[in-house]
Amino acid sequence: IIDEHAADPARLIDILQALQNHFGFLSTDTVEQTAHLLNIPRSQIHSVIEFYSFLHSEPVGTYRILLSDCIIDTLHGFQTVMDAFCQKLDIQPETIRSDGKVSIATTSCTGFCDQGPAALINGIAVVALDADRVERIVNFIERGVPISEWPADFFHNEDNIQQHGFLLKQGVEAGSAIEALLDRGIEHILNELEQSGLRGCGGAGFPTVNKWRFCRQIEADAHYVVCNADEGEPGTFKDRVLLNNYADQVIEGMTLCGRIIGASQGFIYLRGEYLFLRQKLQQIIDQRRQNNWLGQAIAGVEGFDFDIEIRMGAGAYICGEESALLESLEGKRGVPRIRPPFPVTHGYLDKPTVINNVETFASAAKIALAGASSYNQVGTEDSPGSRLLSISGDCARPGIYEYPFGTTIKQILIDCGASHTRCVQVGGPSGALVANTDFQRQISFEDLPTGGSFMIFNDSRDPLAIATNFAHFFAHESCGFCTPCRVGTTLVKNRLDKVVKGLGSENDLAELKKLSHLVQHYSHCGLGQTATNPVMDSLTHFPEHYQAKVKDQPFTPAIDLEQALQQARVLTGRTDADAHLEQFNE
Ligand code: SF4
Repeated sequence: IIDEHAADPARLIDILQALQNHFGFLSTDTVEQTAHLLNIPRSQIHSVIEFYSFLHSEPVGTYRILLSDCIIDTLHGFQTVMDAFCQKLDIQPETIRSDGKVSIATTSCTGFCDQGPAALINGIAVVALDADRVERIVNFIERGVPISEWPADFFHNEDNIQQHGFLLKQGVEAGSAIEALLDRGIEHILNELEQSGLRGCGGAGFPTVNKWRFCRQIEADAHYVVCNADEGEPGTFKDRVLLNNYADQVIEGMTLCGRIIGASQGFIYLRGEYLFLRQKLQQIIDQRRQNNWLGQAIAGVEGFDFDIEIRMGAGAYICGEESALLESLEGKRGVPRIRPPFPVTHGYLDKPTVINNVETFASAAKIALAGASSYNQVGTEDSPGSRLLSISGDCARPGIYEYPFGTTIKQILIDCGASHTRCVQVGGPSGALVANTDFQRQISFEDLPTGGSFMIFNDSRDPLAIATNFAHFFAHESCGFCTPCRVGTTLVKNRLDKVVKGLGSENDLAELKKLSHLVQHYSHCGLGQTATNPVMDSLTHFPEHYQAKVKDQPFTPAIDLEQALQQARVLTGRTDADAHLEQFNE
């Protein structure tokens, strides 16, 4: 396995995933041999295994079920499905059954909020789980039917494209954008990108052409192109659909970028949850190599060399952050780098690198082919063009919608058949919670920027429960590098849990605000800086839901001290009521 990966430490995560698939888990012995063969310390490998939730150093079940507990799957019946699996398989959540046949646990968003509840079974997505599907899955598991022999319909999922625009109306055929580049020249394409006003679609909105131009100007012995296909923001699934149906368009965009910046190697960093897409993407890459749209001398042009490798993520939300993604791509823990320097000068292996989102590359290819004016004839002055929204939650028609920037929330809710909407979470948990008094607000960089997630909650949903779900998500996904985020997100989660249980007081609400401010202002990267947005937004817009839960007391303790001391009392044989006060009395 290590030879197949050229014994390259930069491919450590792929190597570990392959070893895990082969041996079932990553034992101490496996780690030791891998460290020896790659000539890297064992501690480095252990730290990588600990970091990624899809890597494990202990055995899991032959069938490993990971159920998504993201907020939308929770609304759609996650708990019922979990209970059904546990009851029928005679297993507890987060455990492995004594016969080793099956284990069950939760995972964050799987990228199927439009057709949940969803799960990963041995890494492959299974959607629309209901009583009947659970029954059938349990039957296969108990009979020991290998996953490869399960009926194909188990792994079928829908694209759910509901509204087409500039990007989705007509895909880019293999080679057509490359021919446009070769016909019109690099400067012409860069000018088109500039005039289009295309901005990065991952959420930050940096002008795409500036990134490409800057990287092109840097002299180095290698440049790289990286496609960030690690969309882990709960509620977003547009990249899944683009890669499933518009992969050629995405790859054309990457190839243009490679030619423009002088890169001969590109990577698609595919989130682990989209393992089901890997084979299909690889086939498309192979086909393009055969047709001379990838590889050496593309389209017969000497010196136009560009190829693409797929690298898999392993279940770490933070790797959607570009510098964390680069660390992961180099086989390390996905800890965000200190910036500057930025990836455009010091990216993959410290070389100039363009990282763009899947949608950005797809848009760039279309603009190269159809021209800037076909893109920016819609949108607003500061946000030209259109944006793909992944719409989920309480609406009749969830799915992918392409909208011109400037579209109001109100219009979107009408189109997708939402009614009695209390609030919308725009941009995922790190985005903004918009209350129904503000539905005239618009999707745009100047008002509501979004990487594409659009989650709808009707008036039966409790904003406090939504904020609590997001707080658990961030506490779990914090990479642990900096204290304000690592500790702060857990303290916020614990306080919210206390309030939800009806044990909170006004003091807890005040502490939540203080903690939120601290985490927001002192964290190292965007995850920490936005992690408490849901708490602050819900406290601002829906204070009554918090007030209904807190006790009419200025302060309530977070723990029952007597109960907490009970075990120590038993161990020390001290059962007198004041035992813990003795040191103060002495
Ligand atoms: Fe890691 Fe959070 Fe710090 Fe970002 S803010 S570096 S996710 S601990």
